[in-house]
Amino acid sequence: MPSWWRGHACCVNTVAKLMRDNDIRAKTARKFRVRTTDSDHDLPVADNRLDRRFDPPAANDVWRADITSIPTREGWLYLAAVEDLSARRVVGWAMAEHRESRLVVDALERAVQRRLPGEGLLSHSDRGSQYASAHYQALLARHGLVVSMSFILWSNVRRPIRRIVEKHLGGDVVHIELPNQVSFLNRAALALALDEVPPGGHVLLDARGTDYVDPDILDLIRDFQEKTGPARGVEVSLSGFRSKYQLEDQIQYIDYSTRDLQEAVTPAQVLQILKDGNERFRIGRQLTRDLGRQVEATAAGQHPLAVVLSCIDSRTPAELIFDLGVGDIFSVRLAGNVISREVLGSIEYACAVAGAKLVVVMGHTRCGAVKAAVDLICAGQSAAEATGCDHLDHIVEDVQRSVDRAACLAAAHLPAAEKETFVNGVARRNVDRGVEELQRQSRVLARLVREGRVAVAGAMYDVTTGAIEFLADEGIGFSQPVAS
Ligand SMILES: [Zn+2]
Repeated sequence: MPSWWRGHACCVNTVAKLMRDNDIRAKTARKFRVRTTDSDHDLPVADNRLDRRFDPPAANDVWRADITSIPTREGWLYLAAVEDLSARRVVGWAMAEHRESRLVVDALERAVQRRLPGEGLLSHSDRGSQYASAHYQALLARHGLVVSMSFILWSNVRRPIRRIVEKHLGGDVVHIELPNQVSFLNRAALALALDEVPPGGHVLLDARGTDYVDPDILDLIRDFQEKTGPARGVEVSLSGFRSKYQLEDQIQYIDYSTRDLQEAVTPAQVLQILKDGNERFRIGRQLTRDLGRQVEATAAGQHPLAVVLSCIDSRTPAELIFDLGVGDIFSVRLAGNVISREVLGSIEYACAVAGAKLVVVMGHTRCGAVKAAVDLICAGQSAAEATGCDHLDHIVEDVQRSVDRAACLAAAHLPAAEKETFVNGVARRNVDRGVEELQRQSRVLARLVREGRVAVAGAMYDVTTGAIEFLADEGIGFSQPVAS
C-alpha cells in the first residue's frame, strides 16, 4: 500500500469522488466480500435514531459514519468516512490497512476538527464493533455527540418482550408484545418466543407500543412470517407495524363468534367466556382485536353466544366490560334493567331464533334508577310528580317491586355508606326478580332452560372496581329452571 495514503491531507472532494467511484456503502463491502464491520460483538449498541429517514434539516444536525474497503494491487485498504447528511458531504475521513476502532476514531476526530459541531449532533453509524468500541464512544461523549446507549439498555430492561397466551373465541393465540425499542438485545428473546409457539398455533406480534424496530429484528419477523412459521403450521398475525417497516398489519386468527362456535359451546362455557372477558377488562388485559375485520366477517350473518340485559348506565357497556367484540352478544339495555314485553321479545328472539346460549340479567352498583325508586317510595311521590317526566314511572314502579315501603323508610335515616349498601341490595333483588320473571313470563325461554339448551344467570357489575359478580347457585350463576 502506498505510504502517501495514510494520513494524507487530501481534499474532501477527492475522497468524495473516491467514494462515489467505488459506490462506497455497506453494499460495496458485501460485493467485495470483505468484512468491514462486525456486529457479532458484545459491546453496547445505540438505537438507530435516524430511523432510516435520512432527511435532517440542517448542517451539523446529523452525521453518518461508515467504513468500507477498497481493493488495491497491494491488498485491501480501509476507508472510514463521516458524512453530513444535510448536504451529503464527507466531513471527515481516514484510511488504513487495518479496520480497527482507531480508524473510525481518526475519521470522526477530523470531522470534529473541521466542522466544530455543537452539542446534540446526532452521530449515526452501523453497529460494527469499531463504532461500538469504548474508544469511539468516548470521543462522541467528549464532543457532546453521544448517542445514548444506556437509553436503549434501560428501555429494554424496563419493558422486555412480553408473551401472553390469549384465549380468543377461535382458540389460543400467543400474543408477543414488543417493547418500545426493539434492538438486537431483544433478538434472542424474540426468537425463543417464536420458537415456543406450538405447531399449528397462532401467534400475534404486537408492535403497537413500539417506536423503533431494528432491521435485523424485522428480518427475523419476515423470515418467521414467510418461512419458519408456515413450515410448522403457525399462523402469524401482525398488529401495529407501520408501513415504514414494510410489514402489513393482518389478523389471521378467528376472534368473533361463528356459527360453528355457537353450535359447539354449552351455556356453562359461554358463562366462562364472559367471566374470562370481565377478568381481562378488570385487569386491563383486553384481547387484541381488529374491529374492522370483525365488521367484515360478521356482515353476512351473526351468531352471538349470549344476550345481556343491563342498565342504560353509561358506565356499564356490556361489550366492553365483558371484553367482547363485534357479533359476540346481543345487548338489551333499559334503565334499571327492567323486564318489559319488548325486552321479553328481544330475549326470546336472541335465544329461540338466533341461537344464543346464555341470558345474563345484569344490575350494577350505584344505579340511579334503583336509587330513584327507593327515594320516591320514601318521599311518597311518583316519578312524574318529582320530575315532570311522563314515562319514568313505568321503570320506577317495576324496580319498586323489589323493595317494600317499610324497608325504604328504615333505610332513609342510615348514614350515606349504609344507604348505598341498601340501594345496592335492592339492585341485586331486582336482578334476581328479573331472572325469575324471564322464565315465568316466557314459555319458550322456560322450555329452553328446562332442556338445558339455554341458561339464565343474574349478575352485578361494580362501577367502582369493574368486576362482575355472578349471583346465586354456588358461583355458577345459573338459576334453577322455573316451572311453567
Ligand atoms: Zn343503572
